[in-house]
Parts: sequence; structure tokens; C-alpha cells
Amino acid sequence: MHDLTEGVERFRHDVFPAKAELFAELAAHHRPTALFIGCSDARVVPELITQSEPGELFVIRTAGNLVPAHAPGPDGVAASVEYAVAVLGVTDIVVCGHSACGAMTALAEGHDLSAAPAVAGWLRHAEASLARTAPAGGAPYALEALVRENVRAQLANLATHPSVARALAEQAVVLHGWVYDIPSGAVERLDTAGRRVTLAA
Ligand code: ZN
Repeated sequence: MHDLTEGVERFRHDVFPAKAELFAELAAHHRPTALFIGCSDARVVPELITQSEPGELFVIRTAGNLVPAHAPGPDGVAASVEYAVAVLGVTDIVVCGHSACGAMTALAEGHDLSAAPAVAGWLRHAEASLARTAPAGGAPYALEALVRENVRAQLANLATHPSVARALAEQAVVLHGWVYDIPSGAVERLDTAGRRVTLAA
């Protein structure tokens, strides 16, 4: 906690004054142009990877960057998606998976999650991805393939949310699938055919 309070002090004294004009503008305006959905993993920092300024990215982070398909009833992820798309009018949505994802590793390696029942329940949202990447003959899962398939599955889930479906029909929003590689800093863009395109290294 000491590190956090020290960080706040440094922010107040060094960072904030340098961007005072931006923060004054942001005090009254919230107009992000993109919704970034990433993993809660501490190593995947959306603003750092995309070099975004405060106010530019609307961010949702969940374990395994999962976005459950639309379902009736209150849902924090769905509410944030709807707010970003229908109220803020973001024009791009990125779902970003990453290398060495703990959630995907737990699935790929069949970890015992009996001590973490909420995690186990949440990861069931990735069961279709797991099924689609199941290796033949009982061979071990390829984590990279699961991470990529999971990003594609979440893009499909996003499209089931009414606000996103409407924006897609009106061509008002574009969906993007990314995978961030922690050791190299590279970001790969997944196209609809499943091939990889390196954005940056
Ligand atoms: Zn992760």
C-alpha cells in the first residue's frame, strides 16, 4: 500500500501538472472513441499498450477477457458494454487476449478450481472456445490456440448484445480481436479468417 500512496504523490506532483489542461477538459467531458476489453491480468495495461491518454479508452477488464453473451438480468459487463456503445458512442471495440493468461491456462490444463468456485463458474463462459480448440487424441491443449479462439468467441458474444448488434447493423462500430504477447510487447490482430497480422513489435 505504501507504493500506491507514493505513486499518488508522484502523480499529483509530477504527472498531473504536466497534463493540467487535459484534466481540466476531462473534468466536464467524457468522449472515449474506443472500448477496450482486456484481461484483469496486471501485466496487460490497455493505456500503456495503446499509448492512450486519459479519456481516450473506455476499459472493461475481466478474468480471461471474457464477455458473456447477452442474457436477461443485471450484469456489470453488459451494462458497461451498453454504456460505451449506446451512450458514449464508441466507434471501435477491441477484445484483447494475451500470452500466459492464467484463466486460459487453467482451462487448457484442467486446473482444479474447487477452492475458487466463482472463478470456475466464470470460466464456463469459455467452454465453447475450449471445445473448439480441443486437440485430437487427448493431446495437451495448445494455449496459444485457445487464447486466440477465446478472443474470437468474445467478439461473437459481443455481437449478441443489443446495443452492439444495433451499432453493427448501422455500421457505426467495428470489432477488433487482438492478442498481446507479454515477453515481446507485440500485438497481433486476428482477422476474421483466423490468420495473424502483427500490428507492432
Ligand atoms: Zn489473462
